[in-house]
Amino acid sequence: MKRVLVVGAGIQGLVTAAREHLAKNQVFIVEKRKRIGGRGTSQESFGHQLEHGPHLLLKGGELHKMVKKVSKVKPSLRPIRPNKVLIVGHGELYPINDPKEILNLKMGKDPIREEALRLISGWGQDIPERKQALLKGKLCVVGEGWSGLIGRLASTLEEVGVPIQTGMKITGTYDGGVITSKGMKIEADEVKMCDGSPIGEPVKVSTLDVVLDNRPLKGLHGLIKGDVAILDLAAIHPKKAPGMSHFSCIALSGGVSKIEDLLDERVSGWRSHIITRRENNSITLTDSRGLLSDGMI
Ligand SMILES: Cc1cc2nc3c(=O)[nH]c(=O)nc-3n(C[C@H](O)[C@H](O)[C@H](O)COP(=O)(O)OP(=O)(O)OC[C@H]3O[C@@H](n4cnc5c(N)ncnc54)[C@H](O)[C@@H]3O)c2cc1C
Repeated sequence: MKRVLVVGAGIQGLVTAAREHLAKNQVFIVEKRKRIGGRGTSQESFGHQLEHGPHLLLKGGELHKMVKKVSKVKPSLRPIRPNKVLIVGHGELYPINDPKEILNLKMGKDPIREEALRLISGWGQDIPERKQALLKGKLCVVGEGWSGLIGRLASTLEEVGVPIQTGMKITGTYDGGVITSKGMKIEADEVKMCDGSPIGEPVKVSTLDVVLDNRPLKGLHGLIKGDVAILDLAAIHPKKAPGMSHFSCIALSGGVSKIEDLLDERVSGWRSHIITRRENNSITLTDSRGLLSDGMI
């Protein structure tokens, strides 16, 4: 049995800890923030869970498999339907009622739809597995939110006795352990760095999550214009804001104001229906590897 210390309690850290526990090692997690979850954290506001932008879980991917393995009840998933996503000025993302348009798309003769597929499946990254998953109804909104997955992993780790120490920052390592910002040494046989540091250049995006008290998109799953996407999580998953809209939006460039411009253009009056909102002008989506976490963890 090895003593394994995991640095960081984001998705990667929690999954790594679960794996190390299953491998019969003695595991300990340290997290610098007071809250666990990293970029998978959501914030409760007026009874709604606001995330850091849209997250779609790859059904059957590594994260989904791990969550299913540790949970008694399966997470509730609903797929985003590409035929219910509208590209402004171009039509549906996947026009099921128009065989000619579908053929164009399949033959690579529709760059606008191709870009839009890339936007929704990988938030602009070219991830063929996720593109296929989107078309097959396997990219899903999680009813309990991305943070619900974090909660399941964390409570399982707690049940099996893996401690998570929050509010403790690791500032260095030495041969035989790590050093905290307060100069304390923690011994470990192996240290797993899961601190979310990008490898190479970080890819930054902007996000806006906003709950409205009405349903101006009338059941559409999403809207796309250029490199901005608005998803209505409430239209996709019945557990999210029933009777209202939960817009989870992302812009690959131009900041939050570009998202607001699209909302102003397509969802007139949205500002007077806001129940709550959360935004990030610049958050790291991924890095030079161009991957998202749920398929590769
Ligand atoms: C808008 C957006 C949409 C996304 N959509 C998807 C999606 O649809 N599907 C998908 O799979 N992924 C998606 N992602 C990516 C996914 O959110 C991240 O890959 C994942 O959350 C990263 O997890 P992590 O544990 O590697 O890093 P982080 O979440 O960054 O966690 C790292 C943790 O380590 C802690 N830490 C850092 N330094 C130290 C230290 N020195 N000492 C102690 N603790 C430390 C941090 O506080 C943090 O809690 C999306 C990301 C964004 C921003």
